[in-house]
Amino acid sequence: MAANYEVLPGYKRFNQRDNAIMRSAWDPALNSYGERSKKTISDHIKNNYPGFGHRDFAFDSGTMTVVSSFGTAINRPDSGLTSWKPLQTSNEREIPPELRDARSRDPVEMREGVRKVARYLGADLVGFTDLDERWVYSHHYFPEKGENPPVELPEGCDQVVVMGLSMDHDMMATAPTAIMMTETHRNYSRMAALVSSVAQYIRAMGYQAVPSLNDTALNVPLAVDAGLAQPSRLGPAITPEFGPRVRFCKVITDMPLEAVRKHRDFGAIEFCEECEKCADACPSNSLPKGPRTTEGISGTNNPGVLKWYGNYESCRLYWASIGTNCGICIRVCPFNHGKGFHHSIAKWIIRRKWRWANRFLVKLHDWLGYGEQKDPAFFWNGRGA
Ligand code: SF4
Ligand code: SF4
Repeated sequence: MAANYEVLPGYKRFNQRDNAIMRSAWDPALNSYGERSKKTISDHIKNNYPGFGHRDFAFDSGTMTVVSSFGTAINRPDSGLTSWKPLQTSNEREIPPELRDARSRDPVEMREGVRKVARYLGADLVGFTDLDERWVYSHHYFPEKGENPPVELPEGCDQVVVMGLSMDHDMMATAPTAIMMTETHRNYSRMAALVSSVAQYIRAMGYQAVPSLNDTALNVPLAVDAGLAQPSRLGPAITPEFGPRVRFCKVITDMPLEAVRKHRDFGAIEFCEECEKCADACPSNSLPKGPRTTEGISGTNNPGVLKWYGNYESCRLYWASIGTNCGICIRVCPFNHGKGFHHSIAKWIIRRKWRWANRFLVKLHDWLGYGEQKDPAFFWNGRGA
């Protein structure tokens, strides 16, 4: 088995300031992003490009409401719904320690309780891991003030509840359009509600909880450590259920869950070694070909881990040139399928790790026309009715 990742001894934790989103705020190579993006959007709306019209961007704005209101933000820690302190101020909701049920102190019961609550609240995938501090950002970054303080988690918070929300196949198939972007933002809004609610459940059980979207710690290795996913050539983690069509969030807690790192292996690394569809399809040539390395290829990478490094500067500049996020790499990935008997057979074959079979499946994916862009008008003409 190819290990999901290997970490070199000198590896240093990543500073949030250096990721592509934050670099847009301060790095001259990227800080025209906002203006360029705005200009592109207005040009698209004026020209009413399919999937980039006024109504499409209005729809996107609507889907972002929960995650962008009252201080909540995708990349900002401890704010709005992702506050590290309890959000409910009513004393009626506080359960005094003497009333806590002793039976619910068992770590396995508590873990399974959290799983049930998270699933009920909308998580499609739930996993648990002990916290590997290497995946915690060394520093937060607050672009409004340019502040870059160290990340300090509450004492004892060393367990992670990792949750995945799947993105709709047809909406993602319109990539790159504002219609596809609505699906990513709809899921961030769902995530904000999910992490804050799971965190509040944990607090009401008597423990600390740090709800987090893309801030504070890296979601891809946490999802891998929780046994939910494997790393991929395109960057986001791949799951057997939804491929890369999933977004992860987490709650870091001191609730004793007896969570341990448990890597999953469904053949994704070996499949990516044979498949370069995402790299071939990337319009900005941001994704690498060839084997994994431990060296980054742009300032937005944190070297020292054996993996595929993308150039997220050129990726982000491409986003600015189209006015939305892109998602072509997700759309064309052969793991990006829904349920179906034939897809189950393909996944069974991929788990065998026969290189010749993987090569055949990549070609078959092309022959069957999978990964083609879907007309974004489908949403307004039928889907949304
Ligand atoms: S999102 Fe688009 S530009 Fe960025 S890596 Fe994927 S295909 Fe390339
Ligand atoms: S498109 Fe192919 S190479 Fe890229 S992530 Fe998907 S399986 Fe891996």
